[in-house]
Amino acid sequence: MKYFVYMPQIVSLANDLLLNFSVLIAGLFAISLTFRQPDWPESWRRILTRYLTSVTTAFLLMINTVSVASGLSFDFRSVLVALAAQRNGVLAGLLIALPIGVYRLYVRGPAAFPGVLNLVLVALLAGKATGLFRLMPRWEHSIQTTCQQAVLTFLTANLTVFVAFWLVGRPPADALPVYVVFSSISVLGMVVGEYVTYTRLAALARAQSLEQLAYVDPLTGAFNRRMFDESLREFPPGSFLLLLDLDRFKRINDTYGHVVGDQVLICLVQMLQAEIRSVDRVYRLGGEEFGVLLAPGSAEQVRMRVERLRAEVEQSLATKTGLTEETITVSGGLVLIVEEPRTALANADRLLYSAKAAGRNMILSNLR
Ligand code: GH3
Ligand code: MG
Ligand code: MG
Repeated sequence: MKYFVYMPQIVSLANDLLLNFSVLIAGLFAISLTFRQPDWPESWRRILTRYLTSVTTAFLLMINTVSVASGLSFDFRSVLVALAAQRNGVLAGLLIALPIGVYRLYVRGPAAFPGVLNLVLVALLAGKATGLFRLMPRWEHSIQTTCQQAVLTFLTANLTVFVAFWLVGRPPADALPVYVVFSSISVLGMVVGEYVTYTRLAALARAQSLEQLAYVDPLTGAFNRRMFDESLREFPPGSFLLLLDLDRFKRINDTYGHVVGDQVLICLVQMLQAEIRSVDRVYRLGGEEFGVLLAPGSAEQVRMRVERLRAEVEQSLATKTGLTEETITVSGGLVLIVEEPRTALANADRLLYSAKAAGRNMILSNLR
């Protein structure tokens, strides 16, 4: 019965803890918004945003700290450091710990030194498997590994609780329950926090693979017709459209079989992708027909590049496919996209048709 006397304090503590936990989860959600799909390069602006969000969250956690007893408080700041270290390496954890540590030393108090030591240990232990620093975050996830890491990290780093008690002259026996409870809550915080972050990363990875399925031709790895239709609307006026169609490709299939024919298509896309700039795009529009969208530039240069491409196909596409006795050529139509993309497509198609009629192995253009 006598424990009922403590009920209001327990409820109040649980409430404060819940608030701190909610700040952690909200902060992690905000941090997770700075992650992008696995294939996207990391930008420094995004990394800085992630860092500042992490530090802000850490300070919000400290502002909302759970006061357990006089001089004894708990919050989830070390979980934030642990998760950063686990994903981006020891240095990432230490960088988040730095402003917190400076603030702790500035405020002073007997727990300042053990508090800072605790954060350093958390960063070192949680980031151990990841290494010193990695720009691209770790995407792998396993609840079991996270649990093990969390237990190891907090059971070791929280030994600083004993140091804090020793510094204020209290017996280690008093520190033991605090050590056990703080460590358990931190482990729980890290596992749930990791799950929240992972859910977002997994959604991004899934979106990427679905986009891959929806927009990429599985045989050649070029973008498909659907992507072409979207890109054609998005490429700015002043871009160029090149339509390509392999010459007498049916004969290659009939002579050497479909598998070899497929290989020719794959090699052609590889050649096109090696030739274009990073701002240009290659699409397989169907069968042995391809589209290339070239970002705005000098018409003369585009014409020269396209001609070089045609010559390169004539010279080495067959050899690259293993058909050393063959010559495989391509015909095409090249146009400037002025305003209406559909008109550009119709014009390029007409030029391609004329190139076929005029004897193949040529690219006709209406560029001046
Ligand atoms: P042209 O110079 O007039 O373009 O002649 P062509 O033989 O290239 O054109 P045609 O349209 O008569 O034949 C196209 C051939 O492309 C027919 C088909 O066997 C082949 N083809 C289409 N898609 C694929 C594919 O995915 N793999 C393979 N191996 N062949 C394909
Ligand atoms: Mg053809
Ligand atoms: Mg064709």
